[in-house]
Amino acid sequence: MCGNWLTRIARRFGFIDTPTTGRSTMHEERSQKRKKRALLVVDVQNDFISGSLSLSSCPSKHDGSEVVEPINKIVTSPFWDLVAYSKDWHPPNHVSFVTNANLRKPHVDNKTDLGNAAVFDLCIFDVDDTRIDQVLYPAHCVQHSEGAELHKDLKIVPGAVTIHKGMNPDIDSYSAFFDNCRKSETILRQVLQDADITQVYVCGIATDICVNFSAFDSHSLGFETTLIEDCCRGVDADKCIETLNKMKEEGIEVITSDEVLKRAEKLLTEETNQ
Ligand SMILES: [Zn+2]
Repeated sequence: MCGNWLTRIARRFGFIDTPTTGRSTMHEERSQKRKKRALLVVDVQNDFISGSLSLSSCPSKHDGSEVVEPINKIVTSPFWDLVAYSKDWHPPNHVSFVTNANLRKPHVDNKTDLGNAAVFDLCIFDVDDTRIDQVLYPAHCVQHSEGAELHKDLKIVPGAVTIHKGMNPDIDSYSAFFDNCRKSETILRQVLQDADITQVYVCGIATDICVNFSAFDSHSLGFETTLIEDCCRGVDADKCIETLNKMKEEGIEVITSDEVLKRAEKLLTEETNQ
């Protein structure tokens, strides 16, 4: 270690040339090893846990509050260079609300009676000549409402970033990156790039919808993407399994929070020994 230290000092003051080709320097090897990681916590909001769109009322009957304890276990780890919390953040006239089904023009392909539409019906709207395929939900996560707040027991780490999504009344946003038509994006990609993040770990609610879309968008943007499965709950249990299988097939890693802690411990040991 001392030899390396002397070499580093000598190189810094110009006594040794830093090689530009061939074997990389120790410093370069270390910085390559030091990949930067972000944790993205998706939509751990009251309405999905105990409110109007509670997972317990969905086909899965999941208890969304069960994600809080495993997320809290990992979220304060020095493993993360950045933590981001996404929030569904809808205006009252949002396209996904069943109570708003009559507000928009039906597309010629729409088969649902918009005057009698029900939760989970698929409607097809025509908004300024754009076809919008939309599953309907109860009004949820309305901006500034209690239902839109993160669960009260979820730890919020200092310096974390909040990503608001779904603000466009006409286009829903399942992903924390893009709206469902990929017409606009949140600040998330820029925030990750500005922090030199290369690896994104994703968790939260709901596995088969917003976590699903966020993880695949992260993957498509070139981030090494990992899903932390015990930190997620979903709308439909079968679709959750399908989602995880598709992720594994497409190159998204699926691990548990215990594995995250093991990686964090290993990294800390390696850094301490350097
Ligand atoms: Zn929503």
